[in-house]
Amino acid sequence: MLDKKFIVVAGSIMSGLGKGIVASSIAKLLQARGYRVAPIKFDGYLNVDCGTMNPFRHGEVFVLDDGTEVDMDFGTYERFLNKSIPGNCSITGGKLFKTIVEKERRGDYLGRDVQIVPHLTDEIKKRVAEVAKNVDIVLIEIGGTVGDLENGYFVEAMRQMNYEHDNMAFIQLTYVPSLSPGEQKTKPTQHATRLLQSLGIQPDIIICREQENLSAEAKKKISAYCNVSENAVFDDPVLKTVYELPLVLEKQDIYAPLAKKLGLKNRKADLENWEKKVKHIISPKKEPVKVAIVGKYTAVKDAYVSVKEALVHAAATVNCGLEIGWVEASDLEKMEDIGEVLSKYDGIIIPGGFGGRGVEGKIRAIQYARENKKALVGLCLGLQLMVIEYARNVLGLDANSTEFDKHTPHPVIDLLPEQQQISKMGGTMRLGDYECILKKGTLAHHAYKKDSISERHRHRLEVNPNYVKQLEKGGLIVSGTHPKNNIVEIAEWKTSFGIATQAHIELKSRLEEPAPIFIEFIKACEK
Ligand code: GLN
Repeated sequence: MLDKKFIVVAGSIMSGLGKGIVASSIAKLLQARGYRVAPIKFDGYLNVDCGTMNPFRHGEVFVLDDGTEVDMDFGTYERFLNKSIPGNCSITGGKLFKTIVEKERRGDYLGRDVQIVPHLTDEIKKRVAEVAKNVDIVLIEIGGTVGDLENGYFVEAMRQMNYEHDNMAFIQLTYVPSLSPGEQKTKPTQHATRLLQSLGIQPDIIICREQENLSAEAKKKISAYCNVSENAVFDDPVLKTVYELPLVLEKQDIYAPLAKKLGLKNRKADLENWEKKVKHIISPKKEPVKVAIVGKYTAVKDAYVSVKEALVHAAATVNCGLEIGWVEASDLEKMEDIGEVLSKYDGIIIPGGFGGRGVEGKIRAIQYARENKKALVGLCLGLQLMVIEYARNVLGLDANSTEFDKHTPHPVIDLLPEQQQISKMGGTMRLGDYECILKKGTLAHHAYKKDSISERHRHRLEVNPNYVKQLEKGGLIVSGTHPKNNIVEIAEWKTSFGIATQAHIELKSRLEEPAPIFIEFIKACEK
């Protein structure tokens, strides 16, 4: 533990300041200097994971290679660091309390009363040490805001760790409002810092979200009242793209105070590739493509953040602009001519989802794309609906998924066999990375340029194997299958660009390594 370094990012004043983006940006700057980094996210909620949470409340559920269902911040970490993160980096209240109670029942604490300090905090520190084993520096993001009841035990564990090892740096992310241009208010930050200090933690660095860059006076005040040097107060301004933040922080030399506190080497960051991609996002060479995301949680864009980011990555690679339109699927159900809404787009994405609301609207959008040769990508539920649409409108079957109609005469989408017996809801879907064999000569194979891939999953239903022959005979191409039980993983149209995957291919898309099918999709949109 002693040769490892830890950087803790805590948020003050209000939620939603972008701690995940700040933590990812700093991790990126360390990685660009050759350090091996891993992120940890502390989430105070008592759910074991966020797999059972509604996207309306919590945003997208992100899935890791190992199948762990995690907070969407993990998507940010992976998109920035371009590496897959293991599930033990997500430490939730639910996981901790589950372990503690199980241990207590086993008799591990025999004779003792079990307490937040030291038992729960020890469990936190043990888990942090586990993650640190394989890396040089761990970035720890404390979910929520300092002062919340929910995350208090995480803050306390970090205070203890700092006292025990002294190889930590604390970053406080705050908000500095401007009452009018030039009238910046640092008082909330001053009070927030006192609160953190009262919990035994002195921030080494303060990063300020803001509407305008900090004035010299504001910086001076924060420094004087919060016990940090002026050189350790940083701007986190409004940016065109979140991917710009590492560059913005690098320019302000955030590495200097970190290196000083943690004894890091004086190395230069290699950000050349990153910079190039960011430039393509901010000022692309080619005209924008217009993409419609036809979904059911379109009121909360966070529900589809990985889909949106995968489009951003692909457009940055193709070096074209990107305009995303959010289309509420249920609105399409009532409309006479959905062309009024969809004709202005170059391509359509049907993302994943659960439950029947909006499904018929999505199926109409797929039919519209097929008949009007608009580029289409379907993701998870999107694949299932592409198959239903094909079965209905090309094969002439009265088809559906048993998720929406248990007694449909043609259940072209049905529960996976192993899902039939499941009664518990948490962590029981087909989750995480599964292999997929690609058929040569298909669009999928052309996109990946490989015979075998693996992508992440989160579903309970599949294309009913009893219908696969009939679908193929009718012209639908099955271009990817799981090697063991022939689960349909990818399907495509013959006559125009339309491809759908049972996997959530958007989850593995990173700025420096976009999802191959998204790149092909953007190129098809350009045509
Ligand atoms: N509801 C579908 C299933 O469970 C699709 C899930 C999804 O899109 N993630 O298989």
